[in-house]
Amino acid sequence: MSATTRSLSHPRKRTRAAWPATLAALAACLLGARALGAISPDLFALSYLIVALYAAMGTSRAAASGVVVAISLEILSQLTLFASPDWGSFASRSLLFTLSGAASHAVLGVEMLARRRRHKLEVDEARENILIEARSFRLNHSGRALDAAEARAQSEQLILTDAVEAVHHSTYVALGLLKRSLGCHTCVLLWMEPSGDALRIRELVSDCDAITEGDIDPARGAVGGVVRRREVVHLSDLRAGYRGLPYYSEAVGAKHFLGVPLLEQGHLRGVLCVDRTDDRGFEAGDVDVIEEAGAYILRAIQNERLFTSVERSKYALSRFFDASRRLNAVLTPADVFEEAMRSVAELTPFDVAVISTYDPDLDSHTIQLVEIADDLKLDTSKLQGAAFGSNAGLVSMAIKNQHYLPYGGHVRGETPVVFTRDLGIGKMRSLLVLPLCVGEGVVGAITVGHREPHRYGSDRREMLEVVGNQVAITLQNANLYAQMEHMATRDGLTGLTNRREFMSRLEEASARHRRNGRTFSLLLTDIDHFKSVNDTYGHPVGDEVLRRVSAAFRETLRECDLPARYGGEEFIVLLEETEIEGAVVIADRLREAIAALVFQSEQGPFQCTISMGVAQWPGDAEELKELIDASDQALYASKKNGRNRVTRWSDV
Ligand code: GH3
Ligand code: MG
Ligand code: MG
Repeated sequence: MSATTRSLSHPRKRTRAAWPATLAALAACLLGARALGAISPDLFALSYLIVALYAAMGTSRAAASGVVVAISLEILSQLTLFASPDWGSFASRSLLFTLSGAASHAVLGVEMLARRRRHKLEVDEARENILIEARSFRLNHSGRALDAAEARAQSEQLILTDAVEAVHHSTYVALGLLKRSLGCHTCVLLWMEPSGDALRIRELVSDCDAITEGDIDPARGAVGGVVRRREVVHLSDLRAGYRGLPYYSEAVGAKHFLGVPLLEQGHLRGVLCVDRTDDRGFEAGDVDVIEEAGAYILRAIQNERLFTSVERSKYALSRFFDASRRLNAVLTPADVFEEAMRSVAELTPFDVAVISTYDPDLDSHTIQLVEIADDLKLDTSKLQGAAFGSNAGLVSMAIKNQHYLPYGGHVRGETPVVFTRDLGIGKMRSLLVLPLCVGEGVVGAITVGHREPHRYGSDRREMLEVVGNQVAITLQNANLYAQMEHMATRDGLTGLTNRREFMSRLEEASARHRRNGRTFSLLLTDIDHFKSVNDTYGHPVGDEVLRRVSAAFRETLRECDLPARYGGEEFIVLLEETEIEGAVVIADRLREAIAALVFQSEQGPFQCTISMGVAQWPGDAEELKELIDASDQALYASKKNGRNRVTRWSDV
């Protein structure tokens, strides 16, 4: 009845013991043979016994040792006991030893296999029983499935095993004491199944074997009275053959019965029953003792419940620390999303989890990361990277109100709109949208959904909220860092890479190209007569020209090219894996694009041109500085030759 597991020891190998045993057996047999004085049939029987004994050790090596011992003994007896050895019968007996050794080993092997299988089944059943009992004592209080993480499941099993054992131990001790002190026939704890429609014997101390197996109808007999009335039921002078004590499988001659309801916050959890077969009825003092024992058992269960919940909190805390540490170590927003997702997965089960960000300036949400269960049929490509404005969806509302949604984490009826009407996550019965708040602001939201109901109760949500706060702060830091990085590497007016960043990227690229022996080109440009643009149209218009020229650079160049603002109205472009001919084509395209731009001013529209110098590595220069000088000289040649043109250094 009490489902406790013992430590599972593995069958140990025993071959080490074989050799000392071999020698001992040999000596014993020889002495036996000597004592008999001559050949005797007993000696052969002894040999078979040795073979059988060794085979019983269970390994093939031991079985073989047995055969070797028997044959050695046979040789010794042939040599020492007979005048002329009979090698014919020796051979046939040796064959018999071998066959009997093999047969014993095989039979034993089959038996051991069967036993091991039975043992495994028993262990599995015991483990299953512990989970059932833990659920029935509400140690894992809402009775929901355990977290997916393997490690978590294992530690959960250990915690529950300990808790169930502790409850059994306390109950057993209490019932034993009760039985001895009150001189009862039986003391039994009946516990209500979670469904509420059956009682089960959870612990029992009795002088009798006729105990009911399995479910007990909670409406039946004297126990039914306790369940119905939720009061102590005291029956005296029961007639012989009374069948109203449902924990007995037959009438056992109990004369007096006392049943005490075990109540938790008004809910009946179980019934503590005692009875006597002698003539002494229960007195008022006895009732007090039994009620006290019932209270003690309930307290033991409550303590274990508290203990398991503390253990769980400890687990959650350690996850928080891990998540904190990992989040503190990341710098980029993308890494924050990855780490946040990892922490969410460790803390809560989900079928879908989404991390989205919110930009208050644009009033816009962007889905950054989506993760779904393997068996969930959901096309995430639509979700990933999707952006949407404020609406009546849960994410939008949770961010607006800075409060999680929906209340209770539970969905009744239709799944509400989470992101937008078009961006669905399928039918989820549990749902939680947590806004990521920092100070007064909100930087995004974590959304988790589960197809099963009641997954996101308050305990789960509170854990996620703590991690959510950490994620929000880290995300804000990462955004600040990205902003700082942008400011440090970009030119404020044009948004192009600045000169310092360009030089360091150029050095990296040059080292890379030196390693793999590829060619690259540099393109240096300067706006023609820019001073007069400033002088004629004003400095702000000059700035606008710089901005539009930069934009034209970005639009005309390839993704892999790197344009930068090199000085006032000078720009430089790194063209990787591009030889000079290709560079000239690109330069000309740029020149034409800029010549086609029309700028507006108070004095009317006007146009600009640029001059360019191009040089390639290797060929035009060895060192980077020389290469920049070469393109500068080519640019100077373009200026000298009338501007609005491209010159390659090799032509200078
Ligand atoms: P050239 O064809 O020989 O290049 O003639 P240029 O007038 O362009 O000659 P120069 O290089 O001497 O003039 C560059 C001018 O660019 C001088 C400076 O006032 C202007 N300038 C530099 N930086 C900025 C800026 O950020 N904004 C504006 N509006 N003008 C700038
Ligand atoms: Mg200049
Ligand atoms: Mg100029």
